[in-house]
Amino acid sequence: MNYKNSKDIFEKAVNIIPGGVNSPVRAFKSVEKEFPIFVKSANKAHLMDEDGNKYIDFIQSWGPMILGHNDERVIKAVQAAVLDGCSFGLPTKKEVELAELIISMVPSIEKVRLTTSGTEATMAAVRVARAYTKKNKILKFEGCYHGHSDSLLVAAGSGLLTEGYQDSNGLTEGVLKDTLTLPFGNLEKVEKLMEKEEIACIIVEPIPANMGLIETKKEYLEGLRKLCTEHNTLLIFDEVISGFRIAAGGAQEHYGITPDLTTLGKIIGGGYPVGAFGGKREIMDMIAPVGDVYHAGTLSGNPISVTAGFETLSILKNTPSLYTDLEAKVDYIVEGIYKLSEKYNVPVCVNKAGSLFTIFFTDKKKVETLEDVMASDTTKYSKYFNAMLENGVVVPPSKFEAHFMGATHNEEILNETLSAMEKAFIEIS
Ligand code: PLP
Repeated sequence: MNYKNSKDIFEKAVNIIPGGVNSPVRAFKSVEKEFPIFVKSANKAHLMDEDGNKYIDFIQSWGPMILGHNDERVIKAVQAAVLDGCSFGLPTKKEVELAELIISMVPSIEKVRLTTSGTEATMAAVRVARAYTKKNKILKFEGCYHGHSDSLLVAAGSGLLTEGYQDSNGLTEGVLKDTLTLPFGNLEKVEKLMEKEEIACIIVEPIPANMGLIETKKEYLEGLRKLCTEHNTLLIFDEVISGFRIAAGGAQEHYGITPDLTTLGKIIGGGYPVGAFGGKREIMDMIAPVGDVYHAGTLSGNPISVTAGFETLSILKNTPSLYTDLEAKVDYIVEGIYKLSEKYNVPVCVNKAGSLFTIFFTDKKKVETLEDVMASDTTKYSKYFNAMLENGVVVPPSKFEAHFMGATHNEEILNETLSAMEKAFIEIS
């Protein structure tokens, strides 16, 4: 493929934007590429780059585009909303309607506050938890990513793992002292820690998708719930990825577990910037202007984002078959991957949950911990990424991320993907 235009744009970008990109994973550094593709447009399951190359897209904007790019129903609603004005700094009826819809879908949410990103949602949820419990320390799990607020950039996944470190530089000693971390999946360690530390909240991705995808055991989440209740610690489910993706009511509906607070993002904006946090009424009522925990935002509940989100969530709520279809498509691809793995003698372990999956190039039969993920072969993943790109499929440029299946990935697209995967496996073997 010819990437001349992307290369030219990158050469300009790298001098004026750090790394040439506005979010590190986009740079394709970890998959040994000198520059990324620059996207010009997208339609349904496809992306088009600045050189006119067309790709099947398994990034899907890292989650928001569950309905596919440019869903006609969402576009129509957004077009109408734009004509009414794009931002007022005053409340709109649309925000109330989206809040009502979120509450009707996410089992644990009684009251919800809209933000502009997932980062703001997790940052505010942690602040509320500290105020509610009157404790300072928080617990997060190694390799989970909860956005880029200081407290949560400790032992973080996603781009930090990809870049080769886990704590961001620039954090104060106080932040590092107050954010405790443990490996995901080990309940005993949580139990021991909670016996000796006063912890305001445990924040967890109920299905971690930022150290590659990890399949969660229900008993683990049940254990966290029980420990939090016993220790007056709030349980925060960060459902920025899993919300409206694992099920219409997120991972909490799938597992039947009730967190105290939930953070949301991605899908609730239908591709436009938005986030949200919500939970029990008495906890949410600590937020200003009811209580004295401050949270605000010039663009919080932006009318265009809210319109796209409302339309997207309404479609998801009214199309329950969409989730079984997405899972069936993932099963089809994963089955195909294991066949290729056997045919070309390239050992893999594929983790999946709902419409998410990650391929780990490893001899291990199970990848259950960050250690297992780290031990999987990065060079082979890089070869896989590059071969897929050359054959017209964009997959995550890091083994620490998940592939996102969308509603517009049809049978033909899945078969094209499997043919590209076959070429990738041949190259790796
Ligand atoms: N929480 C999780 C689980 C995420 O995956 C992300 C982003 O990928 C965030 C929070 C932060 O969201 P945003 O990038 O919208 O700030």
